[in-house]
This record gives sequence, structure tokens and C-alpha cells, in this order.
Amino acid sequence: MIPFNKPFLHGRELVYIAQAVASGKISGDGLFTKKCHKFFEEKYLFKKTLLTTSCTDALEMAAILLNIQPGDEVILPSFTFVSTANAFALRGARLIFADSGINNPNIDAAEIEQLVTPRTKAIVVVHYAGVACDMDRVIEIASARNIPIIEDAAQAIDSFHNDRPLGSIGLLGAFSFHETKNIIAGEGGMLAINNDSLFHRAEIIREKGTNRSSFFRGEVDKYGWVDIGSSFLPSDITAAYLFAQLENLNQIQEKRKYIWHVYWNGLKSAVDAAGVFLPEIPVWATNNAHMFYLVTRNIEQRTHLIEHLRSQGVNAVFHYLSLHNSPYYMHKHDGRSLPNSDRYMNCLVRLPLYYEMTNDDIDKVIESVLQALKN
Ligand SMILES: *Cc1c(COP(=O)(O)O)cnc(C)c1O
Repeated sequence: MIPFNKPFLHGRELVYIAQAVASGKISGDGLFTKKCHKFFEEKYLFKKTLLTTSCTDALEMAAILLNIQPGDEVILPSFTFVSTANAFALRGARLIFADSGINNPNIDAAEIEQLVTPRTKAIVVVHYAGVACDMDRVIEIASARNIPIIEDAAQAIDSFHNDRPLGSIGLLGAFSFHETKNIIAGEGGMLAINNDSLFHRAEIIREKGTNRSSFFRGEVDKYGWVDIGSSFLPSDITAAYLFAQLENLNQIQEKRKYIWHVYWNGLKSAVDAAGVFLPEIPVWATNNAHMFYLVTRNIEQRTHLIEHLRSQGVNAVFHYLSLHNSPYYMHKHDGRSLPNSDRYMNCLVRLPLYYEMTNDDIDKVIESVLQALKN
């Protein structure tokens, strides 16, 4: 069976984990956490970064940092992972779901304007498959009304909107190093903080609401409870694994892009002929090869494709169930229909894409898709 995803060791992960243990400190903010922060702050334009235990936690930190209160409204796409919504639901926010665009699952920027009210406290964009949303349009709408933008950049490491790294454009950006992402640490994430004034409070929220980080830097002579917070910092074992991956980021990205392009070249014409749609990368966006997906004509065609692939030993999978239809939120949603979200929910299918895929694996997937589209 060709799995959908497979975690991998690139090289020095186990060496660095052993070093972390030998250093005598494997709790949070050790040597490797600091190396990861430095890597990100130097390579991309993030003002400050803080590793977290997951992207989910980074999003929860973002919602606390923005002081989201019960009754505040937050605009976000319906076609996204549940954590994008949960972070704000946990603070009592009303979620205002926007539809996806026609050409890709990113939020339809033109729709945001109609959803803004005086109660709107944040606009959350999700760069689906690592492909940038229409940020010029989003910034135009948000800055005219002074509404902060949060980027769910979970899938968007090393991807850009024009020249700007994703996650550096909004006030805050949230990344994931879950084993299904490009760069992995098992479970892991990061909050990118793009305004210095939020950094001090972010550190406190991440350290259980205490000023422990200031204490360790010698800025205060004792530490205590100064704000709300939780335990959002990962073990240095996680950071050690992550740092080994970051050292090889370019090589990992090259391999993923190679696989993506072999898929594209092998499938483009047959897929077009079958009325199946391939991802469109807008002119402003780069492709970080997080994902290779197809959008079928209808749910029957997708079911046939997934079943055929499975019979050939290839595990292809669909993706999100639109959140406005979810059992938790459908009765709270305002009833607007979101047809593009539903189309991606019913018709989108993701092909296997992982670092250790061999040429034989890739060929087998392509061959199986071509067969399925023929009959
Ligand atoms: C993976 C993912 C998350 C959650 O990341 P975790 O690190 O598993 O918490 C959130 N949003 C999007 C869009 C994702 O793809």
C-alpha cells in the first residue's frame, strides 16, 4: 500500500534528540528551541517566533492575544481544519463563515467585505495547500477598518505572497509541524508575531500566564501569575527533531516540488479530458508543494476514484467537512449557503505526497489515477 503520508527522518534528528537529553534540559525553551527561533527569524521576515506544541495552540494563543470576547465576530473560511475555528469559539466568538473561491479553496476575499460588521474583531485566512490567499484584497478590507488579520499558515511554510513569506503578513501567523506537514516534529507548531508590542504578552500566555521568561533573562527577580495563559511550549526533544529538519529545509522542499511536478505533468491532460480540475496557483502565490489535489466533477466521480486507487494499493483521501454544516455549528450558522466550500468538501481528493516517495511510487499513483479516469 502506498500510504497517503509517511513521517521521515532526514538525518540528524536522533543525534540532536540525544544531544538535548545529554544537555540536561528537555523541557521547553532549551537550546534547540532557541536554534529554531533563530532560524525562522533570520530566514523569513517574522519579527518574533515562539514554538508551540501545535498550530492549534498557536491559534489559541492568537485568540487570547487579540482579547477576543464572547459576542465578538471572527470571519474565517468554512472549508478549513476545525482548529482554525475552535481557537476563537473557545473565547466565545461568533464565527462568520465565508465561502471559498471558485479557483481554489482559499477564502473568497471579495465576500469578506459583506461580512464585516462593527463587531468584527479578526479576519482569519487559511493558505490552503500552502498557496497564498488574495492578501492585497484582504489587507485592503482589513486595514480600512483596523481589523487584525490572522494567518493560519499551518500548511504554508516556505511559501510566499509576492516576496513576503506567508505567516509574516498578518499581525500573527500560525504554523504546524504535525507529521502530515512539509517540515515535521511529530506534533508541533509556531506562532509568528509580526508586531513587537505583542511579544511580551505572548511569552506570558505561553508560560501559563507567568512572567517566567523575563525571570530567566534576569529582568525580574521573581516570577508570578500576571495574566491568563496555558502551557503552550513544546519539549526541547520536539525542537531537536524540528531543527534537524529545518537544517535540510531546502532539500525537503526540492523533493516535494519534484513529486508535485511529476504528478502535474503526468496527469494534466487526462484530468482535463475527464472534466477534473487541478489546483490553480494565482500569479501572486508560490507553490510549496504541501499538497497535490484534484477536484472531481461530482461526489460519485470522487468515490469511484478513491475506491479504484484503494484497490490498486494507493491511499488517496478527501479533506475537510465544511464547518458551517458541522454538527457543532450548523445551528449557530446564519444559514447562508457556501457552495464552493461544499464543492471542495464533496469533490476534493488528495494524492499521496511524502518525502520518501520513490519514482516507482509516483508512477504507480499516476497510472492508477489515469485508469480510474478512463472507466
Ligand atoms: C494541520 C492544520 C492545523 C492544525 O495543526 P496542528 O499542528 O495539528 O494543531 C490547523 N489549520 C490547518 C489549515 C491545518 O492544515
